[in-house]
Amino acid sequence: MPSSIELFEGSQKSTFSEQVVRWYHLHGRKNLPWQQETGDNKAYHVWLSEIMLQQTQVVKVIEYFDRFITALPTLEDLAGADEQQVLALWSGLGYYNRARNLHKTAKLCVEYHDGTLPENLDQLIDLPGIGRSTAAAIMSLAYHQAEPIMDGNVKRVFARYFMVSGEPNKSSTLKVLWQLAENNRERHQPAAYTQGLMDLGATVCTKNKPKCTSCPIKKGCQAKAKEVIEQYPQKKQKVRPKEVDLYALLCLKDGRVALSLRDEKSIWPSLWFMPLFKSEQSLKSAHPKAKVQFSLTHKLTHRILQIHVYLLAEPINLTDVNWVSIRELQECPHPKALNHILEQHENH
Ligand code: SF4
Repeated sequence: MPSSIELFEGSQKSTFSEQVVRWYHLHGRKNLPWQQETGDNKAYHVWLSEIMLQQTQVVKVIEYFDRFITALPTLEDLAGADEQQVLALWSGLGYYNRARNLHKTAKLCVEYHDGTLPENLDQLIDLPGIGRSTAAAIMSLAYHQAEPIMDGNVKRVFARYFMVSGEPNKSSTLKVLWQLAENNRERHQPAAYTQGLMDLGATVCTKNKPKCTSCPIKKGCQAKAKEVIEQYPQKKQKVRPKEVDLYALLCLKDGRVALSLRDEKSIWPSLWFMPLFKSEQSLKSAHPKAKVQFSLTHKLTHRILQIHVYLLAEPINLTDVNWVSIRELQECPHPKALNHILEQHENH
């Protein structure tokens, strides 16, 4: 039995990329904010959008992207910014290490690459937070080089089109997917091809109910031909997230909330949150007058947090806190859980 790669080498490979490029020109997305820059900041915009899009829907990213670019219009501005400002601009997107890596990478680009993202795949991959697919997206979308990408959407398209078995993030599966991507490079219009593949995965070959009838590559799609689309890509085995109880101290005064800076090794490092305790006993022994208010569930990727909120009416024995205006919370990098707690307290 020949492998998927052998089956699809030869005449079909140019057809695949040509079809995607043609479809992109007719139906692809061309009005996204990071597609508008054509000058020196192009690579910066592409990179920022790629990092923001890694776990977040386009609609939400647009709002964050515009805010970020307005505050820090160039890569040099990002390099010169304070980490707390970068985290504040990222607040609500989650995965804060991505924001820290953006900041680190911008500084390295200023120090070693004349203030721009290098036009070289290997040098891009060497930078913090830039993996092979993000580097290839920068190379193709910003620098018009024929480097193949393999993000979540593209993995789905390839897994179905070529019927690639195995979980898409397993190294053996990834090897096959990358090889297929290499075999199907588009040398003439790499930016249109890359954007076309991303758009195809996001709008046509969707996770649920793919729109095969309007798909430009339906004729060659193996999973469609065999009517086994739902089997590709193979589903990941779900790992049950760990449940963790946390005890939070809510202290309010004149429209301000007491927040402390989380340390590097804790949950939500370098973000501001209410003083947190690992047990009810430790909270009560530090603040005997605190009264339990409510509990809420907050889901992270690998953890489900049960946050038990205690209200301290009189701010006594409070150390290492800043009183932050609730109206200006936006300026202060904090996890979404803080907004949920404050909203729930309002309605309590
Ligand atoms: S035909 Fe359907 S399953 Fe195949 S690539 Fe197109 S949308 Fe995806």
